[in-house]
Parts: sequence; structure tokens; C-alpha cells
Amino acid sequence: MKGTIVKGIAGFYYVKSGTEVYQCKARGVFKKEGITPFVGDQVEFDLGRDEEDDGLIREIGERKNQFVRPPIANVDCFAVVLAAARPKPNLSIADRFLVMAEKSGTDVILCINKIDLAKGKTVSEILEIYRQIYPVVCLSGSTGEGIAELREQMSGKRTALAGPSGVGKSTILNRLIPGAGAETGDISEKTRRGKHTTRHCELFDLGGGTMIFDTPGFTSFDILEADEEELQFLYPEMEPFVGQCRYDNCRHLKEPGCAVRQAVEDGEITPCRYESYKDQLKEIQEKKKY
Ligand code: GDP
Ligand code: ZN
Repeated sequence: MKGTIVKGIAGFYYVKSGTEVYQCKARGVFKKEGITPFVGDQVEFDLGRDEEDDGLIREIGERKNQFVRPPIANVDCFAVVLAAARPKPNLSIADRFLVMAEKSGTDVILCINKIDLAKGKTVSEILEIYRQIYPVVCLSGSTGEGIAELREQMSGKRTALAGPSGVGKSTILNRLIPGAGAETGDISEKTRRGKHTTRHCELFDLGGGTMIFDTPGFTSFDILEADEEELQFLYPEMEPFVGQCRYDNCRHLKEPGCAVRQAVEDGEITPCRYESYKDQLKEIQEKKKY
């Protein structure tokens, strides 16, 4: 049988095939080879002999992409979440998640959450910067506004939510998975926090081929793995200018004849995104030195 791992707990893997979920173990040989099955993996498995018997995962399909923290595979799309307020939007962090998405070859939906708290200006400034580059959805996990639009954008894909803590990822997730949201809901702030911390990864089926990953979150340490040369291509709006610089190895800092810097001056690349690029480049260069 073929299926998708939707959950893994204590050596058991839960494999969804059609509408059924089968409890499986993994072949011992995976462990020997240092392979861990991940949530999101496409697998081949044998059914147990009877209802009581576990299935056995025989083979793990090639991964389109994979992440270590959290351990998930085959992400089609990242919904990068920031809050319009509380916490104040941090575009530099958002850009790092966007770079991670580009590097992993996924689609992107930029989500501006907590628009119920927003001052109009903040939201329109963020829209101004990103709307040319990525689909942007304004939403509120609290009121439910924009959730339908997000669902629409996620249609047919396997999406993971990414973004700093406190921006509302679990709240949005609970909106998307009715019933699974018992942990947030109306429970008091104090209980909620303790209870809600997701420790394992899970892939929820929203129907029609649309799935969403629930994860403990991506840590900011792990997300910038690009190398120096590659970074310029992970900014989609920068990419068309890269080949037009005077020097082939232009890093778009102070080199003469830099088409990227010209594009920033001409307003074709926003200064804010260009600053993020420079910050990340510097960080990568310093890491290399170290
Ligand atoms: P996470 O850390 O990204 O998963 O964020 P949570 O979902 O735990 O949300 C953090 C806090 O923001 C909680 O107190 C939520 O109730 C609150 N919150 C989430 N979404 C919204 C929203 O759209 N509007 C407002 N006003 N508060 C929200
Ligand atoms: Zn250049």
C-alpha cells in the first residue's frame, strides 16, 4: 500500500492511505542506515495480518525537501506569518523565513495576522513591499476574517506555517482544522499556554488534497542555510537583475555597475528587502569566516 505519514509518536508511524490511517512500524533497516521517517513522507507499507497487527513501512519515497527542526518532509508551501501588531511586525525575520521557503523550492503565502489590531498604515506598508512578490493574505485568527482566503490559497497543497512565536500560528491552525482546536478556543490564557505547546509534528487533511502541518515551529537558527552565491537568487525580485551587473561575482554591495543597486534606486526593489539581503549576506560571510 502507499500512503503519507501524518504522525509519528514513540516509534509508531501513522500512515494515511485514502481515508484510512494505519498504525505502522518502520523496517529495522532504516535505523541501521540512519534514516528516520518524517511526517510528510510518502511511503510504501504492508498491512498487518489482522486488525491488531501493525503495518510495516517498507520504503520511503524520495523527498522534495526536508527539515530537521521540525522534522517534516515534502512541504509544498510555506505560509509565512507576521502580525500587524503585538508583536510589532518584524520584516527582517519574515524575510528569513521567505528565504528558507525559496531555498526549499516551496510556494509562499505571506500572512498578515491580527488585522483586527492593525493601524491601516502598517498593513498598507507591508502590502506595498510584498504584494508584487508573493500572494499576501490579511487575516485575523481571532475574528476569522481572511481564513477562507487563506484556505483558498492553500488549496491542493501541503502547507506549513512559519513565523516567530506569538504572531498567531496556532490560532490560525485551529481555525483551519475545526475540532482540532480544542486547546486554544476559549480556555483561559494561562491554561492554554501550558497545554498548547505542540511537541510532535502532525499533518492534517483538510480535504481535496489540501493538508496542513502542525509543528512546534522553526527555530531561527536553522532557517538561514543559504550560501553566499545562492542568496541573491532567493530574492525573486532581485533575480532578474543579477545577470546584468558589470561583474559576474557581484554581491550587490558597493561594486560599480551593479544592476541590483540601480534597481533599488529606480524603485524596482524595495530598500527594505535589499537591506534584508545585505544583512543576511553579511551574516553568511561572517559564519564562513568563523
Ligand atoms: P503562535 O506562537 O504563533 O502560535 O501564536 P498563538 O496562536 O499562540 O497566538 C499568540 C497570541 O495572539 C494569543 O494570545 C492569541 O490569542 C493572540 N492572537 C492570535 N491571532 C490573533 C488575531 O488575529 N488577533 C488578535 N487580536 N489576537 C490574536
Ligand atoms: Zn550587483
